Amino acid sequence: MTPIYDRVALIGLGLIASSMAHAMKAQGLAREIAGHAKSAESRAAALEIGFCDTVHDSAAAAVAGADLVVLAVPVCAMGPIAAEIGPHLAPGATVTDVGSVKQAVIEAVAPHMPPGVAFIPGHPIAGTEHSGPRSGFATLFRNRWWLLTPAAGTDPAAVARFRRLCEAMGAHVDEMDAAHHDLVLAVTSHTPHLIAYTMVGVADDLRRVTDSEVIKYSAAGFRDFTRIAASDPVMWRDVFLTNKEATLEILGRFTEELFALQRAIRLGDGQHLQDYFTRTRAIRRGIVEAGQDTDAPDFGRVKLDAG
Ligand code: NAP
Repeated sequence: MTPIYDRVALIGLGLIASSMAHAMKAQGLAREIAGHAKSAESRAAALEIGFCDTVHDSAAAAVAGADLVVLAVPVCAMGPIAAEIGPHLAPGATVTDVGSVKQAVIEAVAPHMPPGVAFIPGHPIAGTEHSGPRSGFATLFRNRWWLLTPAAGTDPAAVARFRRLCEAMGAHVDEMDAAHHDLVLAVTSHTPHLIAYTMVGVADDLRRVTDSEVIKYSAAGFRDFTRIAASDPVMWRDVFLTNKEATLEILGRFTEELFALQRAIRLGDGQHLQDYFTRTRAIRRGIVEAGQDTDAPDFGRVKLDAG
């Protein structure tokens, strides 16, 4: 395939950035990939694995001459990096980010974008509980959504070109308003993660049980929670610091429903419980039918085509 971008700069070299690099390299979507991460270890790993052609000590150096810059760092790190790279961006460049929250990233990044640079905020709805430069794989985005939240008036040619890249990496692309994105993700991702963190924390507090039997007899429900709760602590800290309003709204509704279920259990109201679980089962079927998950016990998260 002819490259879609000439020089791509990846700022942050973790799961998402390294997966993008593997996917771009597998198909020749970028002529050259430059990278920067905070630590020398991650920069060295990117060169050793070979998903970056060059690595740089600073984000400013990495973006020089890049026609696509990808901010792939935790959400709260995006603003300071945007301030650093702003003066070094090439005229006509596109800057995107992959942050899990959109309004806060836009507020932090957009003011630093010089005229003539297209800022296209984005979020690939794809991930695993692993992090760092060794966790990426080329097929991570295959058949997953990549949501874009560009401001009205963003250069349509720049958006179309970036869409082509996402699609070439296997993703389906949708555009939506940033506030809507944050509410939808609070329901589908952020609050479920918080619940998983809580459940694993509760089990851990019950040390007496944990030490002996929780791990040994771990059934699917708890195992799923532990996988989710193993996700990167810094990334998730930043998600809750920046998507505060939407997650608090959804948590409020969650608590109300939980109390209703608690009451049904106390009163022995089997009908309430059965009706509720019947409704939720239909939602699960809808997700599998939409191709967004599989019924396989490993969640289909094995690396089918790593590299
Ligand atoms: P990750 O694997 O933990 O990698 C984060 C990378 O950012 C690391 O290379 C880290 O450098 C670098 N970094 C952190 N602070 C930095 C700074 N101040 N300057 C330069 N580099 C810095 O994270 P990830 O999973 O790829 O997530 C990256 C972004 O994607 C986050 O905003 C997250 O919300 C979003 N996202 C994640 C998922 C997911 O499931 N993981 C899914 C969709 C979107 P070191 O390696 O040197 O520490």
